[in-house]
Amino acid sequence: MTRRLFGALLAACLPLAAGPAADLARAIRENTLDRETCYRVRDLTLFKEDIRFYLTDGYLIFSKPIAGRPVAALFTTEVENGNAEVILRPPNMAERRSLASYTGSPNLDESFQAALFFFTGDVYQSLMEQIPNNPTNRRMPEIGALLEEKWNPVLRNFSGGLDLRLSLDILNGPARRPDFFAAAIQGSKGNNFNVFFDPDNADQIAAGQFVARNGRNFFDVWTLFGARSSPAAATKPLRIDLSDYRISATVDPGLTLTAVTKVKVKTAIEGLRALPFDIAREIAVSEVTVDGMPAEFLLREEAVRGGITRGESSFFLVMPAVPLRAGVEHEFEFHHAGKAIVDAGDRVFYVTARGNWYPNLGPQLTTFDLTFRYPRSLELVTPGEVVEDRMEGEWRITRRRPAAPIRMAGFNLGDYAHARVSRGGFTVDVCANRSVDPALRPRPALPVPLPQTGGRRGMRGGAQPDMMTPTTPTVDPLARMERLASDIGGMLEFMASKFGPPALPYLTVSPIPGNFGQGYPGLIYLSTRSYLGYSGASRPQEMFFDELLEVHETAHQWWGAQVSSASYRDDWLMEALANYSALLYLEKTKGVRTLDATLEEYRAELLTRSDSGEPIDAAGPIVLGSRLESSLEPRAWRAITYGKGSWILHMLRRRMGDERFFSMLAEIIKRYGRGEISTENFRALAAEFLPPRSDDPKLETFFDQWVYGTGIPALKLSYAVKAKAGRWVLEGTVTQSDVSKDFEAMAPVEIQLPRGRDGAQPRPITKWVHASDEPEAFTVDLPQAPLKVTLDPHNAVLRR
Ligand SMILES: [Zn+2]
Repeated sequence: MTRRLFGALLAACLPLAAGPAADLARAIRENTLDRETCYRVRDLTLFKEDIRFYLTDGYLIFSKPIAGRPVAALFTTEVENGNAEVILRPPNMAERRSLASYTGSPNLDESFQAALFFFTGDVYQSLMEQIPNNPTNRRMPEIGALLEEKWNPVLRNFSGGLDLRLSLDILNGPARRPDFFAAAIQGSKGNNFNVFFDPDNADQIAAGQFVARNGRNFFDVWTLFGARSSPAAATKPLRIDLSDYRISATVDPGLTLTAVTKVKVKTAIEGLRALPFDIAREIAVSEVTVDGMPAEFLLREEAVRGGITRGESSFFLVMPAVPLRAGVEHEFEFHHAGKAIVDAGDRVFYVTARGNWYPNLGPQLTTFDLTFRYPRSLELVTPGEVVEDRMEGEWRITRRRPAAPIRMAGFNLGDYAHARVSRGGFTVDVCANRSVDPALRPRPALPVPLPQTGGRRGMRGGAQPDMMTPTTPTVDPLARMERLASDIGGMLEFMASKFGPPALPYLTVSPIPGNFGQGYPGLIYLSTRSYLGYSGASRPQEMFFDELLEVHETAHQWWGAQVSSASYRDDWLMEALANYSALLYLEKTKGVRTLDATLEEYRAELLTRSDSGEPIDAAGPIVLGSRLESSLEPRAWRAITYGKGSWILHMLRRRMGDERFFSMLAEIIKRYGRGEISTENFRALAAEFLPPRSDDPKLETFFDQWVYGTGIPALKLSYAVKAKAGRWVLEGTVTQSDVSKDFEAMAPVEIQLPRGRDGAQPRPITKWVHASDEPEAFTVDLPQAPLKVTLDPHNAVLRR
């Protein structure tokens, strides 16, 4: 839901339907200020939960009423000694730190020149009630006329991006208390920023800013948190359950996808009149029925600005002819069509809308029944077993049904050769393009419009690419097909032996032009580069396309397809688990040096300096998720999610030992398979697998440092060995630097004793010690003088 909030102000909308809701949305877009409601005011306040506006001295003017009351207002300080302020205090340290990283201050306390407010709740009433409180407040229509002229274009500009969101609240007003609030603020220092309160977000309160940097547009989320007021009084997020998808689609020879999607829709709210859905921007809805009756719908046709890529989702509204009944399954039918596939040349295709080519509300576990009609010269793959596959004239018709509920269904299309293997009850079908996409040839003709680097939210976000990296040459797309099939069969078998069976017993692997892969339930998109034989590629690239990418995407059959993340703050877990599972497989097949070398690459990347002079790691804690992809350091999301995420799991493994660590991974699937896991769920579960009498038994310190905090320490060991009455005592300290004073690293010191009289080499003694910035002493009693004392010989700590 987060993306809906932040996307809200991005784009203008063209109405594609007529009806009462379309009229409402148009009225919002064409709204103007109303000079008759202009007031000279002093000492008004506008409180929306934790958001506090002090409108101390200036003019207030409302918009013309829509559906009976104003939905917007402007406050400006264009008077002598005009004054206004907005104050927002995040409730916890993490959010205060995040805010400070953008604004320099842990609390938002900004005076401003002007602010436009948009609201569906009681803002108008609350402001009007305060006006009589000060006898100098008075109506000033002549000033209102000037403000209309100056501010109407600005009002319309913002209204154009908020029309659907405001309409959703207003239309559902009878069933659900409307309470949306947004402010576009012109700060006194000339900086523009936004503040939101959206009851449809789990975290309702947000502040942030649009920033353009190096040709890319970002919405920097300064802070995002839940309101502190009594939850009983709050408007509950709109929860809509979608189930039993039945989709019938045609891909015509011109690659236009036309589909009819039927899905059951259930909500706990009685009398809902408007429902939001997501769909890829390149797909337009042309008809909707609810329980067989035509329904009005409101769709966006967005002016694509920089930073928005094909495949991203956009939201639209459906207004059933009869309000929905609570707890009842309603049958929705959508007709939709669009260019979701790009021709990359030579019968190689690029599917842009991968998890969102049908109306959806993000990943929800449900059954799918998918029928595709497409040119008989091509082949189309979707997840699940084939239940029907036949030719009809120039068409081929394939129907597939996944054996179990899945969270989203992708598809892929091409002129494929196949390699199939069955291992341990699982079937892998590798589809390979028979020809090479032009972009991969030594001299690319015309590059395909590939997504920009920095995809996000693997499984959750729908169509955004998952992993990506640089380029490589050469040319036979079938070269590795057989090997890929047997490799991926081996990976499935290895992971099934560790974590239990995958989401579906049947896995289709299909090529996608570009530098990335994406793992959906039963279907993997794998970079076309991964299919090629290699010559002369540098080692890390070779490893990425040859191995890490395919194992990582295979691992998403568990991490993402089986268990999912509870919120954007927990998305890192799916990526870290998939990536570390991939590294475990490479460690087993290639040896521990492959694991160590990859961890070393991640470490170097995390320590790379940003423009600010700080290491990338300092951009923010891993739980900020997609918020890390900000204008401050666009590389941070990827480096921290994949790199630091892998390190976090590796450090846990070193604390637990291998046996306990593997048991922990299996337990995650056992306990949270087919469900969602949060970071705190994960902490509690991991703590159960620590060896008895471990330090930090709840892993709270570990998580505070590595998961909820930032910092990579440098560690230094000093020690001395003293003989004492036939025994030996090792006295030492581990000192940390380059991190804040409250950082508490723990590191192992390994002590190797000499061979005993029998000639046997004793097992090294490992002592875990606390590091701090003050040398903190530890002692170990030894039977002999040690041969060798080493700090952290096996990469147990991420350090400089
Ligand atoms: Zn991934």
